[in-house]
Amino acid sequence: MSDAPRVIAIDGPAGSGKSTVARAVSERTGLPYLDTGAMYRSVAFSALRAGVDPDDAELVANLAAGMELQMGTDGTVTVDGADATIEIRGPEVTRAVSIVAAIPAVRSEMRSRQRAWATERGGGVMEGRDIGTVVFPDAVLKVYLDAKPEVRAARRSKEVEDLSYETVASDLARRDALDQGREDSPLREADDAFVIDTSDLTVEQIVDTILEALG
Ligand code: C5P
Repeated sequence: MSDAPRVIAIDGPAGSGKSTVARAVSERTGLPYLDTGAMYRSVAFSALRAGVDPDDAELVANLAAGMELQMGTDGTVTVDGADATIEIRGPEVTRAVSIVAAIPAVRSEMRSRQRAWATERGGGVMEGRDIGTVVFPDAVLKVYLDAKPEVRAARRSKEVEDLSYETVASDLARRDALDQGREDSPLREADDAFVIDTSDLTVEQIVDTILEALG
């Protein structure tokens, strides 16, 4: 038997249903859940709080390397001792996150923290953009969730009350372009990923399909 962590990778763009589905798969399998997007959001939060320009690769990378980050099992996120759970979902962080996430030194720091997290726990359901392609290419199951852009924007828009649908849709398109276009571990389907278009499916249908694929 190998000691490799048992990882289920759930990748895809914003609004594809990753978080809801990954949490449900975690509950059904008993494997712990990690939202790796919240880690990149925490780096953006940390930069904004320190008054550091998100484009300043060197300063942001230093912050990421020294950042004390706790990802609670209840969804709380603590950055250098401060509760950042709400703020990491705010519009300022959402606008800056794909910029800091394109910095190679930030990605390598987050990758090693994500690998350590899974190794300590023997595995997990890990949600992100590059889990199946780069972080855990040997994951037991790689799922890539996608949905039509207008469906994804509508889902996000429901979660964000104070922004118009148009603003949410254009922020999302901009973030998609940055995430797919960056050089280091861009968002893409792994060759052996199980691809699901979630546009017309219920959460239950998606979760059942994933558990069936897991065998
Ligand atoms: O999943 P969420 O939308 O919260 O992710 C926020 C951002 O973090 C993404 O748009 C992307 O720029 C970055 N991200 C990443 N790699 C991951 C997870 C998230 O680059 N594994």
